[in-house]
Amino acid sequence: MTSQTPHATHAFLDTQPDDGGVGPSDHHTEQGPDIQDHRGVVVAFPEPDAATWAVLRFLGDTHTDLETTRIAISNRAHRAVIDRDEIEVVLDAITAGEHAAQLKLIRRFRAVAPEIAAWVKDTPGLGEKSVARLLGAIGDPIWAYPMKWVDVAPDGHTCDPDRCGARHLVALQPFQRTPAQLRAYCGWGAPNKRTKGMTQEEALALGNQSAKKIVWNIATGCIKQDGASGKRRSPYRDVYDDGKARYEITHPEWTAGHRHNAAVRLVAKAFIVDLWRIAAGQTSHHPYLKDGDRT
Ligand SMILES: [Zn+2]
Repeated sequence: MTSQTPHATHAFLDTQPDDGGVGPSDHHTEQGPDIQDHRGVVVAFPEPDAATWAVLRFLGDTHTDLETTRIAISNRAHRAVIDRDEIEVVLDAITAGEHAAQLKLIRRFRAVAPEIAAWVKDTPGLGEKSVARLLGAIGDPIWAYPMKWVDVAPDGHTCDPDRCGARHLVALQPFQRTPAQLRAYCGWGAPNKRTKGMTQEEALALGNQSAKKIVWNIATGCIKQDGASGKRRSPYRDVYDDGKARYEITHPEWTAGHRHNAAVRLVAKAFIVDLWRIAAGQTSHHPYLKDGDRT
């Protein structure tokens, strides 16, 4: 078992200013329920190496920053009345940097989570880049590192100069998430919307917003891979089609857009539960069936 330094633990924090820097949805639970296998035996997963996962997060954030900057410069260059040659060399350099970060990110992803990387490779619709970015945002799918703000520093607390001040940010006992806790952490739990004036408690229940966006992109990417144009059909496309057909019967009053969004939500949830299962050494609920396997 790896000991957690305060610094390494902080690497998994969601640092949005409005949530006080506390990991969403993990803040209120000191200990999650025991996770049992299919025989009802409590499973203890080895705690991951925090430093290794911190590198994945760093690379994911770096790739996102470079991509955002490259898109911004490119858009500005399109709008500006300037000779494109003036900016070409800069754009080439930042594009090369973005590719280098992506390559490093994917390599680190394969090394840190080989079983998830193998599943991604086998499952049509899933891509290494987006799943690597998701893991960069959430850390190990199984393990939660809850944090809490307190007024009085507990014994043995070492202050983080970037965070501690009038109040102290302390690490609670890491715990193993259930699939439902992972869904909530990724922002796909209870269907709430961020509103002005919501309490911190309510904001935290919304989950990690960057993870939520990445999962949305993963889900819509799977849906696009419907088996046409010679590409293998994603098993999550079936989740989408089945869900939409069901909503047509159960919610005839919904618009097509409403049904679409609800079915994307089903895909997102199915994907997150499968991600948890693969991380836990189980098989996914939605395995890819080869053509001959389909009845
Ligand atoms: Zn402190």
